[in-house]
Order: sequence, then C-alpha cells, then structure tokens
Amino acid sequence: MLGIDDELTSDERLIRDTVRDFVGKRVLPEIATWFEAGTFPKAMARELGELGLLGMHLEGYGCTGASATAYGVACRELEAADSGLRSFVSVQGSLAMFPIHAFGSQEQREEWLPPMARGEAIGCFGLTEWDFGSEPAGMRTTARRDGGDYVVNGSKAWITNGGIADVAIVWAHVDPTPGSTSSGYDVRGFVIPTTTRGFRTQNIERKMSLRASVTSELIMEDCRVPARAMLPNVSGMRGPLSCLSEARYGIVWGALGAARACYEAALEYAKTRVQWGKPIAAFQLTQEKLVNMALELQKGQLLAAKLGRLKDAGELLPQHVSLGKLNNVREALAICREARTILGASGITLEYPVIRHMNNLESVLTYEGTSEIHTLILGQAITGHAAFA
Ligand SMILES: Cc1cc2nc3c(=O)[nH]c(=O)nc-3n(C[C@H](O)[C@H](O)[C@H](O)COP(=O)(O)OP(=O)(O)OC[C@H]3O[C@@H](n4cnc5c(N)ncnc54)[C@H](O)[C@@H]3O)c2cc1C
Repeated sequence: MLGIDDELTSDERLIRDTVRDFVGKRVLPEIATWFEAGTFPKAMARELGELGLLGMHLEGYGCTGASATAYGVACRELEAADSGLRSFVSVQGSLAMFPIHAFGSQEQREEWLPPMARGEAIGCFGLTEWDFGSEPAGMRTTARRDGGDYVVNGSKAWITNGGIADVAIVWAHVDPTPGSTSSGYDVRGFVIPTTTRGFRTQNIERKMSLRASVTSELIMEDCRVPARAMLPNVSGMRGPLSCLSEARYGIVWGALGAARACYEAALEYAKTRVQWGKPIAAFQLTQEKLVNMALELQKGQLLAAKLGRLKDAGELLPQHVSLGKLNNVREALAICREARTILGASGITLEYPVIRHMNNLESVLTYEGTSEIHTLILGQAITGHAAFA
C-alpha cells in the first residue's frame, strides 16, 4: 500500500522477483503435500544453490555477496511459501556458512563454503540441548583435548537440517588449553562432518509445526575430530550468539512473508465468500480485521527495511535485531490467526496456506530466541538492568 518495496534497488527487486517466481512454480504447488508428509526434499538444496540463495550475503567462496536487504527480501519471499523453506536457507547461510566464513580457518572456508553455496553440502548448527534452550551457556557438551585431536561428547536438541546435514557446527565446552593460565572452560565451535565416527542423528517426529523442515537430535559419543576442526577465530558465547544475530535478522523479514500470504488468502476469501447475501468483505467487522492486518504488515515492512539499511551500513546492533524479531514474528502470528478466523472452517485445512503458516510461526516465535528472551534483551538495552536470572 505504501510502496515500501519501491525503495529497493534494482538488484534487490530482481532477487525478490526471482525468488517469488521460483517458489510460485516449484514450491507452492507441492508445499501442502510436503507439510502433510513431514518431509523436506533434499533436492531443494541444489535448486536454492543454483539461485545463489545459500550464504547469499557472504563474500567470496562461491557466495553471491548480495546486500543484507537483498537477503532479507529473499527470506520474505521464501517464507511466503513456507517457514520451513526459509529455515533451511537461514540455517545453511547464517548458522552454518556464516561461522565458517567469519571464524573459520582458510582451509575450513575452502573445504566447505563452495559446496555449501552450491547446495551440494548441507549444514546444521548445534547449540541447543535438551536441558539448555534459552540459556545455552549452560551446555553440557564437551570437547576434550587428546593429543592432536578433540573428543566430543554430548547431544544437541531441536537441530534444523540435522538429519540431512553433511556438516554440523557444534558448540561445546573445551578444557582450558594445557599450559594456559585460564582456569575456566571455554565455549568453542567445531566443524564436524556428519560421517565422523561417534556422530549420529535422530529425527524429532510428530511435530505440528515446521513439518516441511527436518528437526533432529545430534548425538556425539567419543566423536574424535582433529584439532583443526575447531573454529580458530572465536571463543566464548560471542561465537554462537553472533550467528544467531545473523539468522534472527532474516526472520525479521521472513515472518512478514508468511503474514502476507495469510493476509492475501484472507482478503481473497473475504471477497468471494457470501453470507447474508453479501461477500463477508463487505461486513465492517471483517474490514476491521483486514485493515489491522494491513497496518501491521506495513509497519513490519518499514521496520525490516530500516534494519536492512542499518545492517548494510554496518550499524545493526543486537537490540535492533531483537526489536525486529519480537515485533515482526508476534504481529505475523497475530495476522495469521486473524486470517484463520476470516476463512472460518476452511481456515483449518491445508487447502489454504493459513493454518500451515500459523502453526509454523509458533516455532518461529520460539526459536532464535523466544519472544520473552528478546523482551529481556530490549529491557536491558532500555534500562541498563539485566533481568534474565
Ligand atoms: C522447529 C525448531 C527448530 C530449531 N532449530 C534449532 C537449531 O537449528 N539449532 C539450535 O541450536 N536450536 C534450534 N532450536 C531450539 C530453539 O532455539 C529453542 O527451542 C529456544 O532457544 C528455546 O529453548 P527451549 O525450547 O528449551 O525453551 P526454554 O528455554 O525451556 O523456555 C521455555 C519458556 O520459558 C521462557 N523463559 C526461559 N528463560 C526465561 C527467563 N529468563 N525469563 C522469562 N522467561 C523465560 C521462554 O521464553 C519460554 O517461553 C529449534 C527449535 C525449534 C522448535
């Protein structure tokens, strides 16, 4: 309505139109079936790679080097099809490729980034554990130094792409370096090929949300990797948290795609569904719902566009990302729920995209920092007091 996309550059508009066209032809005709079957076709990875969408905001190593805004727009168009599709791209680019790009050795970058950009190798990111979700620093996974190797033990829960991954970025507590004066246990990232002995995965089934996405447990039992598997250039929670900031940024845009799809479905339905001799769009109560949905969509777009430009200028702060993720996912979910009411009984079937998006956004509200955790991050930024514990 406000023509917010008019401010995109021609390259950003081209990416938007390319992704929109791709999902329209390749994903939308199939997505309800994938969702119902609880599958994500692995072949999608190469198709997304061919489009240049994997690690698209990274430079070099076969990555597209697009602007942060272009990456956001791509996330929005992918999630207009399904949050599972956007999750695949987010995890691959922001959670698996980004740490290798930002914190990896030259050898790790050259080995993994080009095949990951092409979608020939799939990555996952293992931070959460069964007992440590919002508080990941409490993790129990350890990596013990043994000669020239590390031996990793522990498990990671709720890991997107886990069961289809070729490589896992696993965050673990390591022993203090022998001979160093540091007494504490440090968190370090490890690049672990999933074929490594002692590494296995178990898919988490019976999900009612993000069904077109693989979610798994990673299990490491005396999983021995050479010391060079450690990401050399980051230590402590800054490593995983900076990856999460990247992925959360994509969600700020992505959630609006799901919301837009639900708004459009509701508007279309309201114009054609007749009760009391009139389209339900002609009733004031329906119009109020549609107007509120359109308002929040436009406001969310403005917020995403602002964050995109801040990120492109290198000025995006973690609290900016929290502000965007908290608002846009919360409002997107509200839009999907409202759209569901407009569709009445039809709103509960997979014939329409609404309940699929709505259920997906329940996961999006929780992963990459729950709405409560983003509220606490913002609370701390505003007041100067941390209220996490
Ligand atoms: C589909 C899906 C995919 C995922 N993919 C990945 C992945 O690829 N990699 C990965 O590492 N993780 C992944 N996750 C895990 C996700 O990041 C966690 O679920 C999330 O961090 C929340 O952790 P939790 O589920 O253990 O909830 P908990 O941390 O147990 O929280 C439960 C509730 O308590 C609230 N709470 C917690 N602490 C506080 C507090 N201090 N104050 C107020 N309220 C609080 C939370 O906000 C929440 O409402 C995924 C999750 C899902 C559902």
